[in-house]
Amino acid sequence: MGYGSVSPASKRISVTYSTTAHAKALQWLTPQQTADRTFPFLFTQGQAILTRTWIPIQDSPGIRLTYTARVKVPKELMALMSATNPQERSIDGSYTFRMDQPIPAYLIALAVGDLGFIPIGQRTGVYAEQSMVKKAAWEFADMERMLLVAEELYGPYRWERYDVIVLPPSFPFGGMENPRLTFATPTIIAGDRSLTSLIAHELAHSWSGNLVTNATWNDFWLNEGFTVYFENRICEAVYGEDRALMLQVLGRQELERTLADLSHEGHVHDTHLRLDLSGRDPDDGMTDVAYEKGFAFLKMLESKVGRPKFDAFLRSYFDEYAFQSMTTDAFLEHLDVELLAPNKVVVDVAAWVDGPGLPIDALIPNYTGFNDVDDELARWLSGISAGELRTADWNAFQWIHFLRHLPRGLTQDQMTELDNTFLLTQSGNAEILAAWFEQCIRNDHDPAYPGLDRFLTSVGRRKFLLPLYSELMNTEKGKLMARTIYQQARPNYHAVAVRSLDELLVWKDNKPTVSF
Ligand SMILES: [Zn+2]
Repeated sequence: MGYGSVSPASKRISVTYSTTAHAKALQWLTPQQTADRTFPFLFTQGQAILTRTWIPIQDSPGIRLTYTARVKVPKELMALMSATNPQERSIDGSYTFRMDQPIPAYLIALAVGDLGFIPIGQRTGVYAEQSMVKKAAWEFADMERMLLVAEELYGPYRWERYDVIVLPPSFPFGGMENPRLTFATPTIIAGDRSLTSLIAHELAHSWSGNLVTNATWNDFWLNEGFTVYFENRICEAVYGEDRALMLQVLGRQELERTLADLSHEGHVHDTHLRLDLSGRDPDDGMTDVAYEKGFAFLKMLESKVGRPKFDAFLRSYFDEYAFQSMTTDAFLEHLDVELLAPNKVVVDVAAWVDGPGLPIDALIPNYTGFNDVDDELARWLSGISAGELRTADWNAFQWIHFLRHLPRGLTQDQMTELDNTFLLTQSGNAEILAAWFEQCIRNDHDPAYPGLDRFLTSVGRRKFLLPLYSELMNTEKGKLMARTIYQQARPNYHAVAVRSLDELLVWKDNKPTVSF
């Protein structure tokens, strides 16, 4: 049969197409934008609706497909996909890939760079640029254990291998759960394994999200709420209950801030678990609500029936709906039949799913470990010098909690004292840096601005960019600084970050709409 003869009986259609370098899913990096500064780099980001910008495809999370691919790249570079992957460079730059398990289009992914590979365990390993790969392998040493723990909790891992690739810093997200190969930001490499809950999160998506997938982006909480719950369970099993509770408290702080912001901006409907994104870019619905309110809902359910029953419920949910998509209505029906009715549990599901904010039956994480931090902060504010505070054994989470709770209106001397004593501007932990810089902007602490400028021009992770630019936009001086930095940094950000920041900084058609 020749081209053009498609009939109702056609079983196979060939589409010949080419895409442009400007497809929004693709980010092309110059050698200067990579860690090793020798070769260029390319990566894709498909979620939510960007796969259609480089592949002509029915791009809905409710439609699944398998794929094979042949990719030819310059022979100095290695290509990887969300599929079977090489562990060494090929001689001529040709690679073939297979993804035999059916996945939604947003999980098709490609990365190309000068990459090395180090195995962690039998089924796990790390890819990164040559100068990063050893550091990354050390940081993620717990991956194999996380995989075993996850399987013990909720059943077999169905994707064969689980590898992680560490991308250059412009990657817009913390991680993206591309199947078989999580894409990760280098900002989780802190040198102390403190930020590896992100790996637990992306691994958990191998069940919630990749195996049982939200049918539409209005059902996004089914992907993320379940994944945050699962992530927390992995962290509890690997690092202990203390770590899991700390993460819950910090997550709740972020949720409360997001709920306040959304209500303040008049988007109270976006605080519902079930979203209505008709006519909008589904990326607008990707807030902490799906993650942390979704988590709070599952945590409340767990408390009602007890952990053994809740675990059995989740495990059978993943088994029963493996490689299928799920709507909020279908899940609620399943929840009622399999968990609530048999255990005679009554909960106000509607208040959680179709109501605003955090319902009254949400649990408050029962954690007293930050009390010491609050005490030290109070001591410092009462006049004790920073050097006398008992901070020697604080971990990254305690520092984040401390920094988030600094009051407004600190003097330059106080900010300088903190920085000189604790070397905050020089922190190698991106979460600590971001929390510190936010306070520097709020208290107009000039000496930190060169560091802030460096951070904003080198890191493309939207989670850090949005709060920092938002804080800058609160004052005239900050606005000027935000626009000056953004003008320079914008070409280094991925399209999904640019879209959010253009709105925030009132940029249109690639230019500022106000002169400055
Ligand atoms: Zn996620």
